[in-house]
Amino acid sequence: MYIPLLLTDFLDRAVKLYGDKIAVIDDEKVVTYFELNERVNRLSYGLEKLGVAKGDKVAILAPNTLEMLEGFYGAFQLGAVTVPLNIRLKPNDYLFILNHSETKILLVDYELYGLIDPVRDQLNVEQIIVHGGRKVKLEENDLDYEAWLAQFPAKPFDRAEMDEKDIASLLYTSGTTGDPKGVMLTHRNNYIQALQVMHHLRVSDQDVLLHVLPMFHVNGWGSIFYYTGNGATQVMLRKTRPDIIFEKLQKHGVTIMHMAPTVLNSLIQYYDENKRNISKDQNVRVVIGGSAPPITFIAKVEDEMGWEFIQIYGMTETSPLTTTSIIRAQHLDEPKEVQNRMKSKAGYQMYLTEVKVVNEKGKEVAPNSQEIGELVIRSNGVMEGYWKNEKATKEVIRNGWFHTGDMGVVDSDGNIEIVDRKKDVIISGGENISSIEVENILYEHPAVIEAAVISIPHEKWGETPHAVVVVRDGEAVTEEEIIVFARERVAHYKAPTSVSFVEELPKTGSGKIQKAYLRNQFWKSMNKMVN
Ligand code: ATP
Ligand code: MG
Repeated sequence: MYIPLLLTDFLDRAVKLYGDKIAVIDDEKVVTYFELNERVNRLSYGLEKLGVAKGDKVAILAPNTLEMLEGFYGAFQLGAVTVPLNIRLKPNDYLFILNHSETKILLVDYELYGLIDPVRDQLNVEQIIVHGGRKVKLEENDLDYEAWLAQFPAKPFDRAEMDEKDIASLLYTSGTTGDPKGVMLTHRNNYIQALQVMHHLRVSDQDVLLHVLPMFHVNGWGSIFYYTGNGATQVMLRKTRPDIIFEKLQKHGVTIMHMAPTVLNSLIQYYDENKRNISKDQNVRVVIGGSAPPITFIAKVEDEMGWEFIQIYGMTETSPLTTTSIIRAQHLDEPKEVQNRMKSKAGYQMYLTEVKVVNEKGKEVAPNSQEIGELVIRSNGVMEGYWKNEKATKEVIRNGWFHTGDMGVVDSDGNIEIVDRKKDVIISGGENISSIEVENILYEHPAVIEAAVISIPHEKWGETPHAVVVVRDGEAVTEEEIIVFARERVAHYKAPTSVSFVEELPKTGSGKIQKAYLRNQFWKSMNKMVN
């Protein structure tokens, strides 16, 4: 007989071992693991009363809050499937996701309640429950969460019978490359992921996590389990503003954060501008997801800000993490610069995970050959598939391997470096150019705060690199200067041939730059010009 791996275990363990410890700090709301568990039980009873049964979908549309976290555990006790929603979508996206997922109950934060108004009549949702509902005027049949919750008992809930292969979550991908797809992750997927990450990130009950990544994103969602299971304290964050982040770091003794590079970038800038007022007395280590950060960021974070930096690589479809940068004992005598360069790579495969780089014929590339290939993954984290989309599932899971669409190289140690997304590679005159490589060069320019390098049409070369950059307030820099700067540092053909300056770059909910969006605008307008 085996014991199924269920995500409810993490809260059970925390209650047993760390019941009196503070579980969540959400501004003025502070709850221990005992109290959190009681609120979760009330919620489960409430959902049961509304007819939620095993396999039903409970969607949550909220910034990072206590209510969002308890929503997940509350739904799990019934064997229900949670559908965390990106808070930056448009009403029509909510309509698509809520109906496509067959969501029965929607839990929504009062600040975001209005987002669903325009499509409300077309939703198949049975009940809407509003966190902080007293602060807004509710539609007739909607419920105020706290008042509703208070009606139900805090005693243990008789859980549904569940298996580890049951779906715990439907996470719609961020849509950097087309329509959102519902990634089905099981209890087992995220359970094993949690154990791996606890080990690799050395999570303990001494940790205080600041939830910088949104909990609707796979890494924010998954991090709930890594930290609950170890009795760490989880500090909520509604807005990813650098001043608020620094304030919370100080106030709550935060030890760890996960974030996208764009957010890290904003913290670095804030740090530069406010150095004198920021206390050195912190115990932070930074963990980063998203796209590979420029080495200059790493040096700044490690050497100047004094935070430890760990890079991770993964995606929604793999629960998410698959590799992590690890500095091994043999590297400790190397100069700091060499260590930082290692941290700029995606790193080594995690436990119970196999990551290979394969060429177009599906053959594994020789280590250290510098041959670029696609990363394919086999692990316990790989999703069950895309919800109601067998065709897309078959395209990515082939012969037992998940095909990531990311291109990389591997060295003789098995250390993996992400070169680019397949779709973001620029092919100019038959040469492949990594957009990430060129962006990282542009980040070295003192005036550049954000950069995206994309392919645009070119008569002679087919495609050519174009840079879209955001410059620091008050800095004057010309297109010519940027091009020359890049040409001095990378092969001529890789340097952008044109530059556009913008106030800000379009981003996904988790803070990634939407290059497909930028690219489409260019290809569309170019085509128009050709016509
Ligand atoms: P969609 O699949 O809808 O287009 P998305 O791929 O951006 O959205 P996520 O699953 O959040 O959604 O992101 C995973 C992707 O992020 C990876 O496939 C990879 O391209 C990129 N990524 C993640 N970690 C790293 C890293 N360390 N270095 C480079 N790229 C990374
Ligand atoms: Mg993806």
